[in-house]
Amino acid sequence: MTQVPSSTDVVIIGGGVMGASIALELSKNGRKVVVIDKGGAPGAGSTSASSAIIRFTYSNFNTILMAWEAAQYWYNWNDFVGVDDPDGMAKFVKTGYLVFLTEGYDGVRQRELWDQFGIPYEVLSPEEVRKRWPAFETGKFYPPKSIEDPAFADDPYDQLSALFDPLSGFMDDPMLAAHNLAHAAKSHGAEFFFHKEVSGITKSGGQVTGVTLASGETISAPIVINAAGPHAAKINRLAGVYDEMKVHHQPLRQEVFSPPAPVGFRLEDNAPIVADLDLGQYFRPHMGDLLNVGTTEPACDPLHFIEDADDWNDQVTVEFFERVMLRLARRLPDFGIPLKLLGIGALYDVTDDWIPLYDKSSLNGFFMACGTSGNQFKNAPLVGKFMRILIEAQEQGIDHDVTPLEFVGEATGKAINLGAFSRLRSEAVTAGNVMG
Ligand SMILES: Cc1cc2nc3c(=O)[nH]c(=O)nc-3n(C[C@H](O)[C@H](O)[C@H](O)COP(=O)(O)OP(=O)(O)OC[C@H]3O[C@@H](n4cnc5c(N)ncnc54)[C@H](O)[C@@H]3O)c2cc1C
Repeated sequence: MTQVPSSTDVVIIGGGVMGASIALELSKNGRKVVVIDKGGAPGAGSTSASSAIIRFTYSNFNTILMAWEAAQYWYNWNDFVGVDDPDGMAKFVKTGYLVFLTEGYDGVRQRELWDQFGIPYEVLSPEEVRKRWPAFETGKFYPPKSIEDPAFADDPYDQLSALFDPLSGFMDDPMLAAHNLAHAAKSHGAEFFFHKEVSGITKSGGQVTGVTLASGETISAPIVINAAGPHAAKINRLAGVYDEMKVHHQPLRQEVFSPPAPVGFRLEDNAPIVADLDLGQYFRPHMGDLLNVGTTEPACDPLHFIEDADDWNDQVTVEFFERVMLRLARRLPDFGIPLKLLGIGALYDVTDDWIPLYDKSSLNGFFMACGTSGNQFKNAPLVGKFMRILIEAQEQGIDHDVTPLEFVGEATGKAINLGAFSRLRSEAVTAGNVMG
């Protein structure tokens, strides 16, 4: 096995979709990059569990613009990556995205922002929704309930309209997408080391100087980037920068399920991705006539924050499975409750306001791309670029904390304010859940 080098320009902690994207951007721009990952392969961490939905339903100007800009890269993935991966290339599957309009989400602000960016959409009446996708029950059940609630089985009391955008979709294999980025980064000279754990951050006089590994090696580097996914808070603590942050982040346990799709709601039926805030869930068609189903953290579901990202239950539970499946059956009446429990446990890295942290820190040379809150796979292609301009600004003596940087989208020509992702921001007003 190749030895880790004793020094480099940049160490990236984590080879998930974020670390791999950053490695590609920085190595392409001439930096010597070393990626250290304690797992076994690119994207084998939380990226591998991702629903990989590319959508534009965020609450704020900057977060919507970021998703819209990043989508252009997914649409042209092979061009963006720039190098053919012999293991195959991930593919964008266009399905469109339907969000039911219910209490707390009338879609008005969403449409105002989409109009500014030219994101196309339609507003569909309940009848139009059923005409297009007869598999749907369009009744209103709000608020989302647990199945123990006596009102769970109540009949719907109204009908729901919906907002539909035709350009959303999902990546067919999120781990392969990370592999594609890592492969391309390697072609530009980046080195990836797996089964190696960063156990310490070294520093001197307010400047990061490198990392130490649990296996004993040290790597000196003037730039260290924390892209450790659900372990990122642990790394920020190791670096001594966690307490100065105004917005904090912590792993949150999730369960996502893959039951069989009912006829009428498969990929071949042109089924859309669905945000069903009325029942507190999201779901989408998946390859192999399956569905991918998760929740939108409704108030009736307890949140399981995790203290230690190395110590948690990664198995799905019958209790949660039944709850999610029965709620799904309310929206898709032909969905037969599956007998077999099929799904995975996974971790989000959630911030206080469900907006990520793409930032520098008080430790010169130590940067973070974390707090991705279950909704940032879609933005990974842009995160490499964000981190590059944050690093370049620091090298030019520009203090991003004082003068927030902007990134002008290559596709949209519009400026994204990187201050929106600062660790020092005031908590943003958002949906307060995975919708962001
Ligand atoms: C169930 C689920 C569904 C999701 N659905 C969507 C979606 O539909 N759309 C969307 O946009 N986003 C979604 N997300 C979010 C998205 O997948 C994540 O934001 C993204 O994959 C995070 O990538 P990452 O590289 O930051 O983290 P990871 O992929 O977790 O990578 C971090 C890496 O760091 C390594 N690491 C950790 N600690 C150390 C250490 N000390 N030393 C060395 N290596 C270390 C780990 O081994 C890991 O490989 C979802 C997430 C989950 C969990």
